[in-house]
Amino acid sequence: MRPMDSPILQDKPPLGQILVADDSPVFRDMLQKMLLEWGYETIAVSDGRQAWDLLRQENGPRLALLDWMMPGMEGAEVCRQVRAGVRDRYVYMILLSVRAGLDDVVTGIESGADDYIVKPFEVDELHARVRAGRRVLALQEELVEAREALRDQATRDGLTGLWNRTAIFDILQNELARSGRSGEPLIVLMADLDGFKPVNDRFGHMAGDAVLRQVAARMRAAVRRYDAVGRYGGEEFLIVLPRCERVGGLALAERIRHAIGAECFRAGDVEIRLTCSLGAACARPPVVPLADDLVREADAALYRAKHQGRDRVEGAAGG
Ligand SMILES: [Mg+2]
Repeated sequence: MRPMDSPILQDKPPLGQILVADDSPVFRDMLQKMLLEWGYETIAVSDGRQAWDLLRQENGPRLALLDWMMPGMEGAEVCRQVRAGVRDRYVYMILLSVRAGLDDVVTGIESGADDYIVKPFEVDELHARVRAGRRVLALQEELVEAREALRDQATRDGLTGLWNRTAIFDILQNELARSGRSGEPLIVLMADLDGFKPVNDRFGHMAGDAVLRQVAARMRAAVRRYDAVGRYGGEEFLIVLPRCERVGGLALAERIRHAIGAECFRAGDVEIRLTCSLGAACARPPVVPLADDLVREADAALYRAKHQGRDRVEGAAGG
């Protein structure tokens, strides 16, 4: 068992570690032994204050057995604090008390406890209630994962994993607002693959998709960590470069152009050479253009790049 004065959290508790908080050493040991026997990892403290200190930590225990009567802070008060202050995860709390009256149970549950066990209790009852708590936590974990997957689906382009059109446009709007506040310029690049359609016609859509995925990977590798790359249309990409001057933006555009054109793409056993044209537009605070207008400027520059022979970078007329 761990020393009472220095409880140590595991680096990354799975659903795992169950917190036992009880001021009675005999009861504490008994609870820990039972939990260990049932295959749970435990961490034990002897008062409510220590329990709260552990539960409030990021990645702290997810399930807690809390004695009601403890020095420092009562179990019910720990429940209240956790409900008010712990936001990064759901903590399932079971209050243990000799107080068996209906009022006590109601007060306990209203303090934020999920369950209430009257001491003394049957061993099987405790086991069943701990298992119930773990089921609730496991379900909650699944919900969080499902929500994150949905959010990902809503913002990512399914084929390339880049931001989708809506998301990259949102990012541009946010970055423009930030640029207005910070006074730092911003560059938007519109990129379009040259002669991509024949790839689909000649080699099939599977090959076309493979090329698009590789294009996306090369673009992502070419930009800076805080730049955002989105798929704007079929073979068209919108790239947002925050905190970037015109010269730096054009250099980055050249880097992308080179990353696409320098080496062949592979689809199965065919090698496909492609190039890319890019148009750049710059937002210079304090004048911050609308996202729509900036994209239109970059698009016009791209159009010129196409007309001047493709495989090249053009800056917008105004800058
Ligand atoms: Mg007690």
